[in-house]
Amino acid sequence: MSAQSMNAQGNDPLLDEERAQKYLDSLPTVEEGQTFCFECTPDVPCFNRCCRQLTLPLTPYDVLRLCRRLGMASADFLETFATFKSFPDSGLPIAMLRMLKDPDETCPFVTPAGCHVYDDRPGACRSYPLGRGTSLSRNGVSETFYLVQEPHCRGFDAGRDWTPQEWFAHEQLEDYNRSNDRYMRLGAMVTASGGPVSQKVGNMAVLCLYQLDKFREFIEKMKLFNRVDVSEERKAAIMTDDEAALEFGYDWVELALFGQCEGLKKKN
Ligand code: SF4
Ligand code: SF4
Repeated sequence: MSAQSMNAQGNDPLLDEERAQKYLDSLPTVEEGQTFCFECTPDVPCFNRCCRQLTLPLTPYDVLRLCRRLGMASADFLETFATFKSFPDSGLPIAMLRMLKDPDETCPFVTPAGCHVYDDRPGACRSYPLGRGTSLSRNGVSETFYLVQEPHCRGFDAGRDWTPQEWFAHEQLEDYNRSNDRYMRLGAMVTASGGPVSQKVGNMAVLCLYQLDKFREFIEKMKLFNRVDVSEERKAAIMTDDEAALEFGYDWVELALFGQCEGLKKKN
């Protein structure tokens, strides 16, 4: 199980492989066919209590969604709301949401009425109370679901029963998981090839994955499209559509690191 694949909102740093595994092992799992009972509404007595004192990772897709939501340039967003760490095994960057410096260390996006960025809240917030651990398997990505039951959370007191699949569909996590799995696979490849990457490569990953607006400028300035086989249709999508740009970013980083990538070929 890769620490970087753990996608849970929680209070402990989850970046260190050994500590992450210990943390995961301490949590109950939700197995195939099992359900959990949960409901979170503005009427719960603990409303908003979970939105503070968090160690909350922001994946590239989280940042894409939040920048778009807030209409912010990536550099401004990252400077205002994030700090960067890197995964010890791969050296790849992971942004962490910076809590406010108030006594409660609240999330910068929480308001008395709830989450200000609710429709584009990070994947870890959507997943709660489930954590999704992923690892590479022969058939792609295999998942393990963990129940993260914070003591203050009253959401378990009532509500309907959910399978993990039902919960993830309800929380619209499909796009988040697809993109985050791509990052997990990239990290696993780096680790398997002897990682961690250098600081320079880490900086490249920040540009290509976390700063899509600047990455587009870089694509134009460095004429990246002259070096790879990309259809005109895909080029247009990359320059206008954030999801397409991020997909290209993953491909570009993989190609740069390994000299080959299934989704992107160098020009002969
Ligand atoms: S992003 Fe929204 S849901 Fe997540 S911790 Fe902040 S306020 Fe809460
Ligand atoms: S029920 Fe749990 S998730 Fe919902 S507001 Fe309360 S603490 Fe947060």
